[in-house]
Amino acid sequence: MINIENGLVLHGPELEPIKSNILIEDNLILEISPHASGGEKIDAEGCIVSPSLINSHVHLGDSVAKDVGDGEPIEKLVKPPHGLKHQILTETSPQTMVKSMKSSINDMLSTGTTSFLDFREGDLHGLELLKKATDDIPINALPLGRHKSFLDPNVELSQVEKACHEIIKPSQGIGLSGFGEISDEVARTITQICHDEGKISAIHVAEYEKVQKESLERTGATEVERAIEAGFNLLIHLTSPLDSDLKLVADNDIPVVSCPRSNGALSVGIPPIKKMWDMEIKLLLGTDNLMFNSPNMFREMEYALKVTRGLSKKYFPPKEILKMATVNPGQVFKLNSGCLEEGRRADVMVTQQLSMDPVLSIINRTEPGNIKALISGGIIFSGKNNVFLEEK
Ligand SMILES: [Zn+2]
Repeated sequence: MINIENGLVLHGPELEPIKSNILIEDNLILEISPHASGGEKIDAEGCIVSPSLINSHVHLGDSVAKDVGDGEPIEKLVKPPHGLKHQILTETSPQTMVKSMKSSINDMLSTGTTSFLDFREGDLHGLELLKKATDDIPINALPLGRHKSFLDPNVELSQVEKACHEIIKPSQGIGLSGFGEISDEVARTITQICHDEGKISAIHVAEYEKVQKESLERTGATEVERAIEAGFNLLIHLTSPLDSDLKLVADNDIPVVSCPRSNGALSVGIPPIKKMWDMEIKLLLGTDNLMFNSPNMFREMEYALKVTRGLSKKYFPPKEILKMATVNPGQVFKLNSGCLEEGRRADVMVTQQLSMDPVLSIINRTEPGNIKALISGGIIFSGKNNVFLEEK
């Protein structure tokens, strides 16, 4: 048992600050109360106790191409199958890939992230590499796979079905790069299987204006309209949606992952987070491609908060940004975490309180060195020589 004592706990789905202890048994939160006692003590006096962070969109494999190709157009960098990142991935040995992914997982742990949704390339082999990279680390890796046959314009649908079943078995579902590379028919086949198997079907949409325009010219529908029509249950980006797209997403209650730092890095715009939140769209936050960004959710949250205020010229509540990195993905991905309540998985972060406002303390000011303890599924990590290790 672990007892986190005397911290300012951001409690429940609304992250209400209360002074309390948290008692953890095995991998679950047993009790939240000022009177909870027993167990190995973590002194959280002067600290904030919050849910640990969830990164809802990352391409971990791209750790091998950090800051490569800066300034090149987005299609040249990431579009399959010939984009720069795909060339680099093909040339990288499996050992180098695993080593590089491990190092990025360490970066995530050192910045408070204990769960991440990864767009995994390289078919089944790609999923195996992620498994190797995470095998001895109790981080909650949630991979979405894909298969090269999805991109083949002459593919038989029966082949897509077979590949899809193969990929979703060891993963949380399918994550696709975009409508530029697959047909609507293939997309529908994939989403139907994911739906039947209770898995996630995700796709990048409306990442930049050009893809929306091309989609409209070629098919008469925007990428967002096609994604909803095809039945995807998770949309990534929506940096350049039409107002009618947003209405469709809200009406169909489809969650959206915003990646503002990635969009900023690629000069493609800033997602309309305030507008989407006003329309009650469920919003999540991701750091996207390791090529352009570190997987540091503190940086992503601060950027998201400030560009949202700058873009909308309106106040945006910091709590909603923290929810995009905790409570909201916990609900969408049915993780039983992202929220500090009794009976939830013990994914907890203890950080020094650095300002009067606990949420802004986390978003504006917290650095890796301010994390006093990080607990993933009841297991305590500690930072030693900048490497996060499980405490024995
Ligand atoms: Zn992405």
